[in-house]
Amino acid sequence: MTFDQFGLRAELLDAVQASGYTNPTPIQEQAIPAVLAGSDLLAAAQTGTGKTAAFTLPLLERLASRRPEGKRRPVRLLVIAPTRELAAQIHDSVKQYGSHLPLRSAVIFGGVGMQPQIDRLRKGVDILIATPGRLLDHLQRDNVRLDRVESVVLDEADRMLDMGFIHDIRRLMKQLPAERQTLLFSATFSKEIRRLASGMLTQPVEIDV
Ligand code: AMP
Repeated sequence: MTFDQFGLRAELLDAVQASGYTNPTPIQEQAIPAVLAGSDLLAAAQTGTGKTAAFTLPLLERLASRRPEGKRRPVRLLVIAPTRELAAQIHDSVKQYGSHLPLRSAVIFGGVGMQPQIDRLRKGVDILIATPGRLLDHLQRDNVRLDRVESVVLDEADRMLDMGFIHDIRRLMKQLPAERQTLLFSATFSKEIRRLASGMLTQPVEIDV
């Protein structure tokens, strides 16, 4: 299989080519069509499988295909990750794959000052990548709104539970529109992950690579 069979726009295919990828990985083969179709997704995937591109490429395609009315840029894609390292990596991928698209992104995590993040959020971003605690901080201070989010990704959900983020995640999810696309990635599937997923996902496509 090749990347041009997915129906991704040229700007994304150019970025894929520039990244040096020739063929999609197994998780990309399965996830990209499902995410493009708007389905929820429950995916078992380790780091190194190409999971970041598996959700980033189709979600960028969906964002690029529909522009909201008005001048303001609401957050339309939210990616939640357990650590600042992972959040920063995902942001790098978003910038890499979206380099030819007119979309703006930001990453926010704890351990650094609030003000630069506030300034960035005020300018408006289409895509926000965040760790749970700092995102809740910003929400409580009204620095960001999530009421226009169209798709949300929970990456490494098992690690988020291990790190004690379950209440933060549940509080965050309550701020999102009920009608949205939800993707959950986890290396393992414990009872807790299944319980979290069943409350958040609607008829998800399940992928296990
Ligand atoms: P991830 O599992 O998202 O952390 O990705 C692992 C690594 O695989 C990253 O360095 C990606 O740049 C790379 N990668 C992602 N998709 C492909 C692909 N289709 N072909 C070759 N490398 C890829």
